[in-house]
Amino acid sequence: MNKPTANDELVFLPLGGSGEIGMNLNAYGYGPADERKWIIVDIGVTFGREETTPGVDLILPDPQYLEEERENILGIVLTHAHEDHIGALAWLWPRLKAPVYATPFTAALVREKLRERGLLEKVPLTVIPLKGQLTLGPFEIDFVTLTHSIPEPNGLAIRTPLGMIWHTGDWKIDPDPLIGETTDEATLRAMAEEGILAMVCDSTNVFVEGVTGSEAEVREKLTPLIASCTGRVAVTAFASNVARVETALHAARAAGRTPCLVGRSMHRIVGAAKSVGLLADAPQTIDEEDAGSLPPENVLFLCTGSQGEPRAALSRIARGEHRHVLLKKGDTVIFSSRVIPGNEMAIHTLYNQFLERGVELITADEEHLIHVSGHPARDELKQMYQWARPQIAIPVHGERRHILEHVRLAKELQVPEAIAPENGDLIRLAPGPVEKIDEVPAGRLYVDGSVIIESEDEALRERKRLATEGAINVSIAVSGKCAIVAGPNISLRGLAMEDEEDLDLAIEELERAAEAAFNKLAHADREEDETVETAMVRAVRKATEKLWSKRPLVDVTVLRI
Ligand SMILES: [Zn+2]
Ligand SMILES: [Zn+2]
Repeated sequence: MNKPTANDELVFLPLGGSGEIGMNLNAYGYGPADERKWIIVDIGVTFGREETTPGVDLILPDPQYLEEERENILGIVLTHAHEDHIGALAWLWPRLKAPVYATPFTAALVREKLRERGLLEKVPLTVIPLKGQLTLGPFEIDFVTLTHSIPEPNGLAIRTPLGMIWHTGDWKIDPDPLIGETTDEATLRAMAEEGILAMVCDSTNVFVEGVTGSEAEVREKLTPLIASCTGRVAVTAFASNVARVETALHAARAAGRTPCLVGRSMHRIVGAAKSVGLLADAPQTIDEEDAGSLPPENVLFLCTGSQGEPRAALSRIARGEHRHVLLKKGDTVIFSSRVIPGNEMAIHTLYNQFLERGVELITADEEHLIHVSGHPARDELKQMYQWARPQIAIPVHGERRHILEHVRLAKELQVPEAIAPENGDLIRLAPGPVEKIDEVPAGRLYVDGSVIIESEDEALRERKRLATEGAINVSIAVSGKCAIVAGPNISLRGLAMEDEEDLDLAIEELERAAEAAFNKLAHADREEDETVETAMVRAVRKATEKLWSKRPLVDVTVLRI
């Protein structure tokens, strides 16, 4: 490794994931301030919500700052294949255009995403073997095996001339993860001997006491539980948790049931897992179309949609709208998953729909330990600090409250320095004490249908207003002499009255208001479309306020004849 030159600095820049859940995007920069070289670690998404971002499926970190630094980005390194770490790649790659590095399972899923967006041939994607190495300019990167809730979770040991960063990615300490190796404790201890300058670490479960629990424990509970069920059984879990999927498949076999995969992402992930040699020992599955022919006690459906996502398989089954899967009295749905905060309503709707049909529900709770988290609880965090013994603690991957609590924990554990980053904070790790040296633009972008828009886009504000207030369109035809030829005609969208007659009266009143506003204008003003529009919008708004006490969007179309 080269010696640092006089002006070299090592900096950390989170652009997503620090202060909110999801859309992780972290960057490390090295070199003199005016010629830094960058690597990006992870580039994830979070999901839109109907209430706050209607119509928006995905939310991306805004990479504006790095886009301007594009020439200096040496690579995008992915730690693991969860959406909050890879989901934005196919959307943002055209703006960053840097080579991408990932281990085999992650690469298999990334390839599919790139193919969907027509980028497969364009993006240089290099597969790094597990425990592999990669050198990008001043960054020497070792992939370190950890355990999490997806195959191939990698931490990154990033060595630079100014010290080593231990970027954990998402992890837990699972003594028996079922798939993949256990945490590479020996390597962590060796890294600590060498000296870790900064540990950038998962904060998700910092408020959870004790330890998370193992996938093996879940298998122990789930297998007899499934065996005890009569009727049809549906198990729902996160598809990306391949160990859990394997557990369900094995438990099905043990109970004399043929498994049937339901839902696009379940098929996608199982396909990716098989492509890298996982699930080799799994039982044969049956297609959805054919599962109906099996006796109820001989089938197990493995479904996506544990969070009540309305378009997912499980929600369609709950509503009785699924083409091939029908659950009724005597059947059981097992939720091998947790309730992600914010999804309570959707999940409860699902519960109610199943109960209405007489379907038995089993959820992960004190009695049924059929789910474990993929993130480190407090005792695991303490263990990691004991192994790594970093000079600086930098908590990421959490809301503000998680990150601040994680800083408190690090201080309690005698870590010499700790800093709570916010998205857009440019933090110098070396030389000198850790310090925030600048703030760069950091925000969110929305994937709206097939395009990316700014989060402040007027379109979204209008959409929300349309949803709550409705819309009114006024059209009027005006002659060359500025007399009304036709109209004004009013059409309403999303506005109602108790009965048809009242609605007709309301429309007439709005038309009168619009007409009066036009007539009040001087001849010269009538020649200006904008003036006409402003006057009529104002009049219609005022009348609407009186009629409905609402503030719909009002549009005026002036046709000159
Ligand atoms: Zn993860
Ligand atoms: Zn994550």
